[in-house]
Order: sequence, then C-alpha cells, then structure tokens
Amino acid sequence: MTDRGQRFRALGAGLSARREVIVVGLLVALLSIVVVTAPSLLTAHLDARQLPHSGSLILQNWRDTLLSPWYLGLIVFVLVLERTIPARVGEGFTSVGAAQDFVWLLLFGALQLTIVRCYYVLLQGASERVFDGFSIHVAAVLGSGGAVAFAFVATDFLNWFTHYARHRVPALWHFHEIHHSQREMNMFTNERVHFVEAMVASTLVFVPAALFDLPGKQIVAIATASLLYQRFFHANVRTNLGPLRHVLVTPQSHRVHHAETAEYYDTNFGVVFSVWDRLFRTRHADDHSYPRVGVADAGVPQEQSRRPMALAGTYVKQLVYPFRAVHRLSVQRRRPAPNQMQTVVTR
Ligand SMILES: [Zn+2]
Ligand SMILES: [Zn+2]
Repeated sequence: MTDRGQRFRALGAGLSARREVIVVGLLVALLSIVVVTAPSLLTAHLDARQLPHSGSLILQNWRDTLLSPWYLGLIVFVLVLERTIPARVGEGFTSVGAAQDFVWLLLFGALQLTIVRCYYVLLQGASERVFDGFSIHVAAVLGSGGAVAFAFVATDFLNWFTHYARHRVPALWHFHEIHHSQREMNMFTNERVHFVEAMVASTLVFVPAALFDLPGKQIVAIATASLLYQRFFHANVRTNLGPLRHVLVTPQSHRVHHAETAEYYDTNFGVVFSVWDRLFRTRHADDHSYPRVGVADAGVPQEQSRRPMALAGTYVKQLVYPFRAVHRLSVQRRRPAPNQMQTVVTR
C-alpha cells in the first residue's frame, strides 16, 4: 500500500463513533432541510399527469436539482469524506468506474423522458382502474405527520423487499447485476441502475402507495431524500456510522452487499433502515470489513477506459447485456440439460 493509502487508512481508523454520529447527524439535517424547503422542486418531475409538458419539465427540474445548493452541498460533503476517509484507496470519485456512473447519470434523463415516463403513466392509469377509487386513508387515522412517517417506513420496507426479489429471481438479478458490476464504489454508483430494474422496483412500491393513498408530494420528497442517502452510502467512505449502523444502512454495510466474494452474497438488502435485514435474518454480521466489490459473472461488460467513446460503448453494452442474459436463461429453461443447469446464475 502507498504512503498516501496508509495515511488515509490511519485517518479512517481514527474516526471515533462519536464523530461518526456527528457526520451522519449533519447528513440527516441536510436531507431534512431538503425535504422541508424544496418538496415541490423535487417532486414536480415525477408527476405523471404532466406528461404533455414532460420534456421541458424534466429538463428544468433536472437542472434545478443539479444546481440546488443542497444537492451541491451534499456532493462536496461526500467528496471531502471520500478524500479524507476512503474505504479503499483508488476507488471513489476519480476512478474509471465513477466516470462510467457519470455517463449513467447523464443519460438517465433521456430514458426518463421516454421509456420510464411512459411506463409510469401506464402504471398510474392501471392502478386507478384496478383500485377504482378505493383507498385506505392513512392520514385520517395517523394524522398528516403520522402518514408521512408511515409512508417513509412502508416505502423503505417495500424497497427492501424489491431489492431482495431482484437478487433472488434470476431474470431480475441480471438487470440488477449491472448495478453490482461496479468495481470502484463512489457516490454516483446509485445512478447505475438499468431502466427495467427501475420499472420493476417502482411497480412494487407504486401499487401499495396508491392503495394506501399516501401523501403524494411528501412521499416523492422522501423518496428523493432516500436517493440522496443512497448516494452517501455508495460513496467510497470508511465508516460504519458507529451505533447508528444498528438502525441505518451504512457505507460499510452496503459495501458488504456489493462484495465480490461469495461469503457476502445476498446479504444487507436495506435501502435506508438496516432493521429489515435484522428482522428477516439477511444481515451480514461483519460490521468492520471493507471488501472488494464487483460480480463474479465474467460476461458483464466492464468499463476499461475514461475515453468518452469507450464509456458510451460500455454504457450501451451494459444496457443490452441483461436482455441477452435473460434470453440465455429462457433457452436453458426450455431445453434443460443436467450439465447446463449448473450454469444458471442465481444471484
Ligand atoms: Zn443488490
Ligand atoms: Zn448499491
């Protein structure tokens, strides 16, 4: 390890549990301010009823969000942490993997404008038809504050469940596998999400949210805050947040989830709260290791270069790969042979 690496590791090891509580306290305060001060800014672009104006609306909100001082503050905050207490030297914001994630971030708007957005409109129309006005008014029972808290906890559980499903169902895993293909964790890794995976996950969260008539603006503001928190725990930061790890997902626990070694597979599915993994016995007991990350599947296209054309080419290959992998799965299922069954990837 280099001198620089040893210095960073020493800094990381010196971060006390008390300081970790302060760090996450600042983060929670920042996210709370985002939710309280800018819900409309964060939510308008997810309102499917505004489809006719979607082009300008998405671009405007995408720009506003990216230029929001709170968003930029979070970026700077996490960058400082990646710089001072990296989980592993060489990963983080300046890596090739981060450049690839940035391509995913830039092109996310294009997919939002087209495929995903049309899907949301269909989903909204279908749920209105299926439920036909039926809903359970949580706010009437719990009050508006209670409904927001219920929404936060309920959507986090649903996110845990969909994440579990994306690991356990082979066809879904191949789409989620692209997210796990990252070998250099950084705060933009949560942008590396295949649009099919995003649609599956949003369906499983959207339908109960419609049934329970959860407060629309607040729930999307909460979802945005959750996304910002995901940005934090994907960062290359050496911390398990001390005692807060018993309640929250941490950069350490999510790194374990992304680990390339089999001993860590299919553990730590939490998105904000770690309690679901404790409850359903999917939590990994290792609270202190910072393993290498990636997938064992050698067929997944991997970024090799920062050159723009190479990054664009890898992006397209990563978009296409899950469809080819699922096709391979279906062929294997149609013509099962004892030796072929061994090749089905189940995580
Ligand atoms: Zn996963
Ligand atoms: Zn992840």
